[in-house]
Amino acid sequence: MTEAVGAVLVVEDEPGIRRFVCDGLHRAGYRTTEAATAHEGLAAMASAETQLVILDLGLPDMDGLSFIGEVRRWSSLPILILSARSREQDKIAALDAGADDYLTKPFGVGELLARIRVLIRRHVPDGAPIHRFGAIEVDLARRLAMRDGADVHLTQIEFRLLAVLLGNSGKVMTHRHLMREVWGPGHADQEHYVRIYVRRLRQKLEDDATRPRHILTETGVGYRFQP
Ligand code: CA
Repeated sequence: MTEAVGAVLVVEDEPGIRRFVCDGLHRAGYRTTEAATAHEGLAAMASAETQLVILDLGLPDMDGLSFIGEVRRWSSLPILILSARSREQDKIAALDAGADDYLTKPFGVGELLARIRVLIRRHVPDGAPIHRFGAIEVDLARRLAMRDGADVHLTQIEFRLLAVLLGNSGKVMTHRHLMREVWGPGHADQEHYVRIYVRRLRQKLEDDATRPRHILTETGVGYRFQP
């Protein structure tokens, strides 16, 4: 069972799949709101209690990518895409439009629930504080990073890693812990990813990436964010 705070909005036009998803969610303790069209979905999102959106990309009245674009104008709620489309470029387009994760049909309820748990755990609510260090300003809720007021482009992974470090400011975070938080439980032993992405973050955020003042190495252990 999970601690259900708000409802999961399921935007899917096929009744069978909608039922399958909602039944799985109910058994896991989530409440759901259902929408069969994009317009119904957008109307339901006005309800403040939505916690996460599950979105089918192929809707009758609006392209799923446009739906994501609409939502992202005013909300950072997690969006999990469901789609029959398996082409790589569709996944990339949905993620670039602001979706958080992607499941290709057919999928199992166990995997769906696991992805939802990760998304809810990672989500930074709107109105979260803005972090400032050096010349950098980071707005976690709006997923923006700026250096002296100019946008710094961070990929989704870079942003998640930064969010975990900022959220644990001053604490030593082990490689393993960072792997689990950023990439998920299945990747805990692939620590070299952390090194690669920390190097990228330093190049983008530190004045001198070779002598970092904020994203510090704890030799043999992991990293620590120093404001
Ligand atoms: Ca559909």
